[in-house]
Amino acid sequence: MSRVIALSGGIGGAKLALGLAQVLPAEELIVVANTGDDFEHLGLSISPDIDTLTYTLAGLDNQALGWGRRDESWACMDALAALGGETWFRLGDRDLALHLERTQALRSGETLTAVTQRIAARLGVLATLLPMSNDPVRTRIRTPEGWLDFQHWFVREQCRPAVCEVAFQGVNEARANPALLAALRAKPRAIIICPSNPLISVEPILAVPGIREAIIGCGAPVIAVSPIIGGQAVKGPTARMLADLGTAPSAAAVALRYGALLTHYVMEHGDDATGISAAVSRAPTLMRTLEDKVALARAVLSLA
Ligand code: GDP
Repeated sequence: MSRVIALSGGIGGAKLALGLAQVLPAEELIVVANTGDDFEHLGLSISPDIDTLTYTLAGLDNQALGWGRRDESWACMDALAALGGETWFRLGDRDLALHLERTQALRSGETLTAVTQRIAARLGVLATLLPMSNDPVRTRIRTPEGWLDFQHWFVREQCRPAVCEVAFQGVNEARANPALLAALRAKPRAIIICPSNPLISVEPILAVPGIREAIIGCGAPVIAVSPIIGGQAVKGPTARMLADLGTAPSAAAVALRYGALLTHYVMEHGDDATGISAAVSRAPTLMRTLEDKVALARAVLSLA
């Protein structure tokens, strides 16, 4: 069996992951989640990208909100607000159940991989979902006022402070997920870099010691999909962050960050490909409907 390994952040990545899950047999798809966004909050271990992928692949994502779980209620947050508690990071009642289960499992010694897979399976996810590492990696953002934990910058400060630097605390000590390294050794058919934020979703995965080398060493095509269309992010701070760090936001700028790692780059018709060394393919990359996701997944897989 030859597997496809998709590297993903949250919302943009999960859209393509869902498309891939529609067209590949479940045993042929491994989705690797960024855990640099993870944090501890209200005593709970929260893994936003794992959860976005889990909910999306399970068909339980909240499409109205664009994050979190479907059919959500907010009684706990309302009660917490009445107590004067911290409510800047919104956690729905059903979502809280997942965080309680994960926190309890991690405290009792289960790995992040084990609890992620157990929860995903219970919710009906058939593909394999792997955190990049079982060890903590924490993305931090340096702003003009100093360093902020990622979620403090992203959610509490709503991305307002300018980004001077991005760091992945703990990454040098983190061990790559052994299941990912094993899958990379087993001659995968392709590595797909989903249309996720390169700076805070994909680069943390690539920064875990051993992962980049194993991707290059496995010999499979490495196909990235641009998260930038017409110079703009579809959602979120990707373009803003690139600009803050001194790069004009474009699809090509993202490809250039990935550099020699890429063999193929999928970008929107009309976007400028100047300077990209990978083989460029054009496809409609905006995924609004399930059909869009499936079509892009097929276009990507046709390159493998
Ligand atoms: P986050 O962890 O929730 O921020 O999610 P990701 O890093 O996975 O995704 C954020 C990126 O996804 C942004 O750069 C968006 O531009 C991109 N994105 C979201 N939807 C789409 C889409 O439909 N098509 C493409 N090509 N990119 C998308």
